[in-house]
Amino acid sequence: MTSAASTARTARSSELFARARTVTPGGVNSPVRAFDAVGGTPRFIRSARGAWLTDVDGNDYVDLICSWGPMLLGHAHPEVQRAVTEAVSRGTSYGTPTVPEVELASEIVARTPVERVRFTSSGTEATMSAIRLARGFTGRDVVVKFAGCYHGHVDSLLAAAGSGLATFGNPNAGPSTPGVPSSSTDLTLVLPYNDTAAVAAAFAEHGDRIACLVTEAAAGNMGVVPPDPGFNRFLAETCARHGALFVSDEVMTGFRASRQGQWGLDGAVEGWAPDLMTFGKVMGGGFPAAAFGGRADVMAHLSPEGSVYQAGTLSGNPVATTAGLATLRLATDEVYAHLTAAGETIKEAAADALTAAGVPHAVQSTGTMFSVFFTEGPVRDFAGASGQDVAAYAAFFHAMLDAGVHLPPSAYEGWFLSAAHDDRAVQTVLDALPAAARAAAS
Ligand code: PLP
Repeated sequence: MTSAASTARTARSSELFARARTVTPGGVNSPVRAFDAVGGTPRFIRSARGAWLTDVDGNDYVDLICSWGPMLLGHAHPEVQRAVTEAVSRGTSYGTPTVPEVELASEIVARTPVERVRFTSSGTEATMSAIRLARGFTGRDVVVKFAGCYHGHVDSLLAAAGSGLATFGNPNAGPSTPGVPSSSTDLTLVLPYNDTAAVAAAFAEHGDRIACLVTEAAAGNMGVVPPDPGFNRFLAETCARHGALFVSDEVMTGFRASRQGQWGLDGAVEGWAPDLMTFGKVMGGGFPAAAFGGRADVMAHLSPEGSVYQAGTLSGNPVATTAGLATLRLATDEVYAHLTAAGETIKEAAADALTAAGVPHAVQSTGTMFSVFFTEGPVRDFAGASGQDVAAYAAFFHAMLDAGVHLPPSAYEGWFLSAAHDDRAVQTVLDALPAAARAAAS
């Protein structure tokens, strides 16, 4: 796919990438960063401020990755920086309880339906722990998930998984990767997203063995595929009827899709709540922090209150929780209104440019989250998302990059904005779109 490669100055990034590959598999610490799906040289970023990234060759880019979601306020927000610097000056980790943990947990409890929160260092750990708790609480083993949903690299959930697994193409219902034995996914039922009939049939057949159903609150790891209206409520009700727990994974959507995440767009309006939820990304303010939480009676089964073991050396780290707390306190209604307005402008311009160039596409969103599919029509599930023209996306991606806009280097990811995406940043994106759409057409 090198034909799509960018023409920008990349000498220093190329040099670093070559060196990185001698010390790190593929030269990266998370697969999609390697640009395998789009070809070319990944940009090594030297610094970031507001909506902009600067790479080691001195190129500036409007950032539409935002660290894959966390940077809701933009990079190096002065107030987050000040809070973090102060926290660091008091020491970085004690392995004892601290004030910011209690305050961040309280902030999460105030914004969401969860009654208790336990911190972890990654979203992967959060979903892994939620699944363990659900199994411990119910005394059952089977877990239901949806194809194309990604919940981190938890062994039992790496079945028909999204994100990098979608990028590198593995649609199987069994393990999505070597290294996960089928015994780890044998207890995982994989169903098509947005398919109520499939959910009803699975519960009719296996209902008394199902510990939990886990879903992305809105799918974001096959591109953004919103739940059909009423779908999440149906899941919550089905789980309740069968004594299974409903685990809503809001690692990506939490505090991003809206102030209250995806739940703010459906559960809060319709009057239902998940039994367990997982969070990450935004609530860590750009640091490794994530969480799971939920009903007090379920969370009471966690050690040391209960018998389900779960722990972490850096869980609730004072610097990370300080960053998350500062971020959430600054994530006001105005921030979400800004993300909505900037998102609408970019979505409309992307659709116009692709239509003008004759490139089939579908722009999809939930709350402030959106992505552009290079498909013939709207996408409701993983089968639809998998039909994308990835070569067209690669050409589009590199034309955008050449024009100073850094999109995610995969067609299977959302485009993320921040409160710092001001008129200049948005205009840079708008200016880049027509030529990129023409590149995708050729
Ligand atoms: N769940 C969802 C919905 C995610 O989007 C992700 C990461 O992208 C995870 C879980 C895993 O989080 P982490 O990468 O922090 O382990």
